[in-house]
Amino acid sequence: MDFGQFNALQNLQNNLQNLQNNAANTARLQQLHANDAELSRLRQLLDEEAKKPKCPHCGGPCEQGFERCKNCGQEVIWHGRFVGKPGSLERLKAMHEQHEQAQRQAHMARMEAQKRAAQSVRRKQRSERLAGLIFWVLCFPLILLFLYVLLYFGTDRQLPWPDESFFNELQQAFQDFKIKRS
Ligand SMILES: [Zn+2]
Repeated sequence: MDFGQFNALQNLQNNLQNLQNNAANTARLQQLHANDAELSRLRQLLDEEAKKPKCPHCGGPCEQGFERCKNCGQEVIWHGRFVGKPGSLERLKAMHEQHEQAQRQAHMARMEAQKRAAQSVRRKQRSERLAGLIFWVLCFPLILLFLYVLLYFGTDRQLPWPDESFFNELQQAFQDFKIKRS
């Protein structure tokens, strides 16, 4: 066997080893994914069990509507989603009523929060409209003045531009107003 043949054989062996490694990795990855799925399924089951009403005798999770606990076999009674020992119906009713009331209050609080949010949006819109209005009210005289100046200089000053006496009269009117007020 010459050196070239030896090298080729070595390469083939390496490739085979790589392929086997890849196959093993793929299998391990698949196993990992399967484990993950199984874990999340178990976690969900545990969650569901934890959310179930608890047996008043043994504390284990109870199936809703069953007359006996599946863990300890003792008799239980139901009112709504609340479970208790036989003879505790009044207490269960009170708990149920309390639960309903809490839910109603939570619902009212949610509605109230929604109403407040809508109100604040409306207030914001109103103040924006007001700001726009004020802006235009302030801009309008400036626009008029600008147009007047434009016309005055654009038409060889033919328009009646207020002369000095106009400003004197204006000043006099202002003085009179000040005297009248003081
Ligand atoms: Zn039980």
